[in-house]
Parts: sequence; structure tokens; C-alpha cells
Amino acid sequence: MAQHEHVRVAVIGSGFGGLGAAVRLRREGVTDFLVLERAGSVGGTWRDNSYPGCACDVPSHLYSFSFAPNPDWPRTFSGQEHIRAYLERVADTFGLRPHIRLNHEVTLMSWDNDALHWVIETANGTTLTADVVVSATGPLSDPKLPDIPGLADFPGKVFHSARWDHGHDLAGQRVAVIGTGASAIQIVPEIQPRARRLTLFQRTPPWVMPRMDRAITGAEKWLHRTLPFTGTARRGLLWGIRELQVGAFTKHPDQLGLVERMAKANMARAIKDPGLRAKLTPSYRIGCKRILLSNVYYPALAEPNVDVIASGLAEVRGSTLVASDGTETEADVIVLGTGFQVTDMPIADRVVGAEGITLAESWKDGMESLRGASAAGFPNWMTIIGPNTGLGNSSMILMIESQLNYMADYLRQLDVLGGRVALGARPSAVGAWNRRVQDRMRRTVWNTGGCTSWYLDSMGRNTTVWPGTTAEFRRATRSVDLAEYEVIRPPVPDGTRKAALAEEAAR
Ligand SMILES: Cc1cc2nc3c(=O)[nH]c(=O)nc-3n(C[C@H](O)[C@H](O)[C@H](O)COP(=O)(O)OP(=O)(O)OC[C@H]3O[C@@H](n4cnc5c(N)ncnc54)[C@H](O)[C@@H]3O)c2cc1C
Repeated sequence: MAQHEHVRVAVIGSGFGGLGAAVRLRREGVTDFLVLERAGSVGGTWRDNSYPGCACDVPSHLYSFSFAPNPDWPRTFSGQEHIRAYLERVADTFGLRPHIRLNHEVTLMSWDNDALHWVIETANGTTLTADVVVSATGPLSDPKLPDIPGLADFPGKVFHSARWDHGHDLAGQRVAVIGTGASAIQIVPEIQPRARRLTLFQRTPPWVMPRMDRAITGAEKWLHRTLPFTGTARRGLLWGIRELQVGAFTKHPDQLGLVERMAKANMARAIKDPGLRAKLTPSYRIGCKRILLSNVYYPALAEPNVDVIASGLAEVRGSTLVASDGTETEADVIVLGTGFQVTDMPIADRVVGAEGITLAESWKDGMESLRGASAAGFPNWMTIIGPNTGLGNSSMILMIESQLNYMADYLRQLDVLGGRVALGARPSAVGAWNRRVQDRMRRTVWNTGGCTSWYLDSMGRNTTVWPGTTAEFRRATRSVDLAEYEVIRPPVPDGTRKAALAEEAAR
């Protein structure tokens, strides 16, 4: 058998999740690990999404690691280039570079039932083995490309929001933007002044609230740098406000009517044309889809060079785009703001577990895991931002840090058990956890709000969002409950077993 490099932990991905895992491993004293990243640099979401206007929609002081505060955030909602630079700094500050292997796309991970380790193959021909895999490949990492007849034959330029073509100048062009999600509403106001015509294909209008964005003053930065507890207090306040909102999303969607009125007032300020206002007014409860924040989206839509087509793109005939309602538009460029493969994440096809089936096959009836981390049949394999760990209103970094606590305890438990050992999530524990999650989901705005969203899988099940507060998730992931796992030891070799049986028979 070929000898491969072996590590205790292989982390896949180098976004917030992967880098956070790497920092935590070092803090736990684990230095025998590698981070495998398919791209040529770290940063994940914040490397791939460089479209004009890209920024976070959770305030930066909360959308950053608690262990790596940044007193120098330039704005309350900082832009992509600043978040990307922050992640590069995290990689340097915490000495992660020697552990990171860039341009290492993981193509296959298979569990070896005898050796009790993962065999990991990468696109550049490297094979390595690892006791534990931490999969941080991101929920919004692989663009979802729509299956629209004729799109492949469009003679102009087509690109996805997460793969922006900076070499293509949109000045004077007829640009069609497909979709009205979080990325599209940041892109539209940026490109509208340059485009000759901008046509927005909207399947469902989003609810859009004002964005409290402003430059962070020099005095604030000085304060946070000089008295770090002020930065912590600011973060705590931002977190607390969002925790208080959770009940309305998860238990009392009826309370969101007031927020709807505020969002309608936000629209009315910019959109004077009643026809356009009608097109842009959602018919579902606010919060059912992610609430979007912008002060510039509606003003851009009111500009004379913008058309909103309130029906999806149905077909492309040469350079003519045909909407579902039959409207025809000419375009030079198509920008796909069509989101990501969330409930059918491609990595699931590349993981083969203890029973010889892929994670995708195991999840054919919908993604499910234990505490957002472990899947039954996939020992010593855990996800960061796994099923039902997404948030509608707060920072994903809070959830990532909770999962890092769980990861750290998982490794400690393996150490305590000692020897060659693995932990496999018990199907009964996975089932019980998911029944509890889905039971709580029934009353949430995501399930009752009257919309279809990317939170729901093809069967209408919400396998993405966490139906509680971040504090509840923190408690649920503080430590590993060994009763939820089967302790797996290497199989006893046949010869040894026969000898033991013979010895027992002789006694
Ligand atoms: C435009 C945009 C804005 C967002 N804004 C916010 C926000 O304001 N607040 C918020 O809480 N969340 C936001 N999110 C969600 C965001 O995805 C998470 O907050 C977080 O960045 C996810 O980090 P991650 O490390 O899990 O995944 P990612 O950042 O997606 O990183 C995954 C990494 O895994 C790598 N990878 C994937 N497959 C493989 C493979 N097979 N082999 C090797 N490497 C692989 C990818 O190249 C990538 O580097 C936003 C997402 C997007 C797309």
C-alpha cells in the first residue's frame, strides 16, 4: 500500500469556517493539521464575491471573530475588500500559513473502516489521510446557474455575481440582472449609472429595510484600539439586539407586521410610481426570505434607464431575453444573481462514508446532521455551517464559533478514549435532534410566511436555518454528548479473532 502523508485533522476550505477551525486547533495544541483550499488564496465568500457593492449585511463588529477583534473597520457594514483583508490578516496573525495548502481542491474523501481514517484525494493528484475531517466548504460557495433554454447560446457576456468579470466594462451596455436576492440588490445600484439600460428580472420581490451604514469615526477606532473592552461592548450590544429579534421570526411571525410597515415606508420614499410600487411589494410575510438592507436599491430602480420585469427569465433567443410573461428585452450582458447550491452542496457527492455511500446519497431525503456537525455513517467527519445552522438575522460567525467549540471537544473526547478510535453519530441521535429542529421549525416565519426561499430544499423542508437564538445553539454545541455517538474501534484481524476464540474454547 502506498504511504501517504497523514495528519490528525484535515480542514477543507479557508473561509471564516476553515480559518476559524485552524486558529482553534492551534489554540487546543493541535499542530498536526492541514487546511486544503481549492482556490489560490484564502477568504472563501469574501475572495469569490468581488462584485461592485459587495459588503456584509451584519455590522462588521459582529461579523468578525470574537478572538480577532478589528478596531479599524472602516464602516459599520464594511466592504468585501476589507473583510477579505481581515481574513488574510487572521491567516498571518495566527501563524496559519504553514498549514494551508492552496490550489488543493478535494475531489474525494473516503472513510477507511479498517484504518479508521479518511483518505483524501485532491484534483492535483495528492492523496493524504486524516483521522478527522472538518469540512468548511461553505453554504454559499458554489454558484447556482439557472437552467434557462438558450442561455448557453447568448452571444453576449454572461457571468454569475460570485464570479464577477472585472475585465468587462459595463459602460454603455444593455445589462440584464437575473434575480433580486442579497447580491443583486447590492449590484444594481452600483452598475445602474454606467449601464445604458438595466433590466431587472424579478421572480419575487424582496423586503428591503434601510441600511444604517456610515463611516466609523477616527474617535471610535481610537477608543476601540485603546480600550478594547469598548469594542467588546459594541459587539455585545449588536448581538443582544439581534437575539431579541429571534422570537418574532421563530414563534410570533404575526409581530412582524410593524416591520413590514417600515419596509413599505422605505419603498414609498423612493418609488413614486404606483405601478412600480405594486411590482416591488412582496405578498409574503417579511422575514420569510432574508430581509435585505439598502438605501440605494429603490432609488436606482426609480431611474429612467431601469426596467423591472416582474416575472422570471423564461428563455433566451439570441440576444433577446424572454420573460415568463412574454416581455422581450435586448441585452449585451447577463448578470446571474441566482444564488448558490445550498441544499445540494456539491461536496456531499465527494464524501463516501462507512457504508460505502456518498453523503449526497445519505441525504437523498434532505440534509440532516447531529447538532449541525456530524452525519450518521460518516465517522470523524464534521461540517462547519452544516444543516440547520444558518441565520436569518445575525452573524454566521457566532454559529461558526459555536461549532468550533464542538469540534474542540470532539477532539478532546477522542484523546480521552485513546488509541485508534472514531466517533460515529448514532442514527437515533441524529433523528432525535432533527425531529426537535423540525418541530420548532413549524411555527417559524420561514415555514409559515407564504414564500419559497433558498432556505427550503426541493421537498419544501427547511434544512438550512437554525430555529432559535445563537445562545441556544452555543449551549447545544458546548460539548459532545458521548451517548449520541458510537465509539468505533478497529476491527479485530481475522487471525487474532480465531486464536482468541480457540483459546476461549480450550478454557
Ligand atoms: C455575498 C455574500 C455576503 C454575505 N454576507 C453575510 C453577512 O453579512 N453576514 C453573515 O453572517 N453571512 C454572510 N454571508 C454568508 C457567508 O457565506 C458566511 O458568513 C461565511 O462567510 C461562510 O464561511 P465559510 O468558511 O463557511 O464558507 P466560505 O466562505 O464559502 O468558504 C468555503 C471555502 O471552501 C473552499 N472549498 C469549497 N469546496 C472545496 C473543495 N472541494 N476543496 C477545497 N476547498 C473547497 C472554497 O473555495 C472556499 O474558500 C454572505 C455570503 C455571501 C455570498
